[in-house]
Amino acid sequence: MSGSAHKVLLVEDERTIREAVEAYLERDGFWVKSVGDGYAALEAFAKGGFDLVVLDLMLPKVPGEEVCRRIRDHSDVPIIMLTAKGSEEERVRGLEIGADDYLVKPFSPRELVARVRALLRRAKADEAPQRDRADFGPLEIDLAGHRVRLGGVELDLTASEYKLLVTLSRYPGRVYSRMELVEKVLGYDFEGYERAIDSHVKNLRAKLDDDPKEPTFIHTVFGVGYRFDAPPHAEDAG
Ligand code: CA
Repeated sequence: MSGSAHKVLLVEDERTIREAVEAYLERDGFWVKSVGDGYAALEAFAKGGFDLVVLDLMLPKVPGEEVCRRIRDHSDVPIIMLTAKGSEEERVRGLEIGADDYLVKPFSPRELVARVRALLRRAKADEAPQRDRADFGPLEIDLAGHRVRLGGVELDLTASEYKLLVTLSRYPGRVYSRMELVEKVLGYDFEGYERAIDSHVKNLRAKLDDDPKEPTFIHTVFGVGYRFDAPPHAEDAG
């Protein structure tokens, strides 16, 4: 992905942060429109054309929450929120009003650029047409029928296990962080979310007859998360 055509609306009233983030995004090939208050943000957004919004929560004129809510009223544009305190309550509220991701200050602009890229990738993937089925050797995922078979035998998966498997297998070889999996599979759940994903993976592996020490399908990526691999020679009939 070149990213060169992507337009980012950056809303941040602290000038030093705004300039640093803008510089990093531009260096990475993004086109950036920066504004310093919530009113200017809504005005800029109304003109259209933005692929993503980076939105500070504490803003003059119109607060970030209100900006987020008003954008969400008529747009699915990905929104990354910047929160000052990092209080859990604030983050949860931000996500509840429709932000897709958040960063707690102080953050590294490099990390922000990585999140922007990830979010744009995800937005693009969500637009891709859904397949009806995917075959990975002995593992068949019937996406239309919400059924999974291993060696022809139907598996009894919970809704979360099914979602986890479909999410991971959509892009074999791609590493998913636990946080991404939490978002995609569970929706946000701040109570021990990583352990929740780990236990879903554990259960799913047991059902797939996947040895955690030598997995065929679901691989642990140390310190990051998980990755699905199609077994060697398996043709994806997708
Ligand atoms: Ca602020």
